[in-house]
Amino acid sequence: MDQYTQIMNIIKDADAILIGASNGFSISEGLHIFADNQEFETVFGEFKQRYRIRNILDGMFAKWPSKEVHWEFLSRLIDHYSIGYTGSPNTDALKQIIGNKPYFFVTSNGENHFELAGFDADRIYEIEGNWKYMECQEHCCEQLYEVYPVIEEMVKADKIGKDATDFIPKCPLCGGDMEIHMPQHHFVPYDQEKQDQYQKFVKDYHNKKLVILELGVGWRNQLIKAPFMRLAAQEPEGTYITINRGEIYIPEEIQDKSFGLDGDMTEILKQLAETM
Ligand SMILES: [Zn+2]
Repeated sequence: MDQYTQIMNIIKDADAILIGASNGFSISEGLHIFADNQEFETVFGEFKQRYRIRNILDGMFAKWPSKEVHWEFLSRLIDHYSIGYTGSPNTDALKQIIGNKPYFFVTSNGENHFELAGFDADRIYEIEGNWKYMECQEHCCEQLYEVYPVIEEMVKADKIGKDATDFIPKCPLCGGDMEIHMPQHHFVPYDQEKQDQYQKFVKDYHNKKLVILELGVGWRNQLIKAPFMRLAAQEPEGTYITINRGEIYIPEEIQDKSFGLDGDMTEILKQLAETM
């Protein structure tokens, strides 16, 4: 039996699927925050020329000349990669793979793709924040606010590249500046409820046939990969599947219950979905 058939038999037989996704998954969907590639040129060309940012990550942490320019960059980023996103071949394949099984996503990706692709927001825990929200930069409260309406207004009024002062959001409580919900100045932990749901999911499927599926998570990742590997070691009926390009790491102690699929994420997920 080939590896794909073996994996799909395990998934078909599983009680639940826990999915972890990190940067490698975003990259395979075309969002490459480290790359100065053609796509970056197309989406952020004028920001690159005028402000010398080299990639998206650079832009996220750049010292912008003004709040207006900063929000122009953010509105371009979130409009293009979050609001405008409706799914990808990867998320289509995941839907087929998961089928009707109970699932839970843990991701360090902030672009909100799993929810936008149609997965249940209550079953997605974005450990490093979500671009769907903003928080007070002064940290006057532990409150998250929706940011999509602000971005949509900016885009609708075509404020990008013009004076966006009127559109810059302010904290409704203290009047301070707002920032996107990601670990920056004062990261509002997101959020206890989600963390509890994650713990509950793991507890609910303790001693059951749990598939732990890891997508594009770096081999040294401590936020997702390390806890996933520990969980796989603890769960007698657990199966650990890691998909990545050129970075497959499976510790000795869980090797007999693990699969490593090295290669192009989109191809691998497609192939798995076709085996269903
Ligand atoms: Zn505030």
